[in-house]
Amino acid sequence: MHPKVNQTICIGCGSCAAACPNVFKMGDDGKSHVVEGVEYEADKICIDDAIAICPVQAISWEE
Ligand code: SF4
Repeated sequence: MHPKVNQTICIGCGSCAAACPNVFKMGDDGKSHVVEGVEYEADKICIDDAIAICPVQAISWEE
């Protein structure tokens, strides 16, 4: 399982990157991007926090 950001929906508020900086980084395009190669299960709590606080529900867990 890994988190995914729907960049079409993301409004670039930065809340996910603030909540879980190992996993979410803001890109030059003003959207959040998932950092590759992270042990996502170890950051599950803050990923779930990011999913909960995203104002536009742009983050999800994917297989
Ligand atoms: S919290 Fe949601 S809208 Fe805000 S930057 Fe992250 S993915 Fe985008």
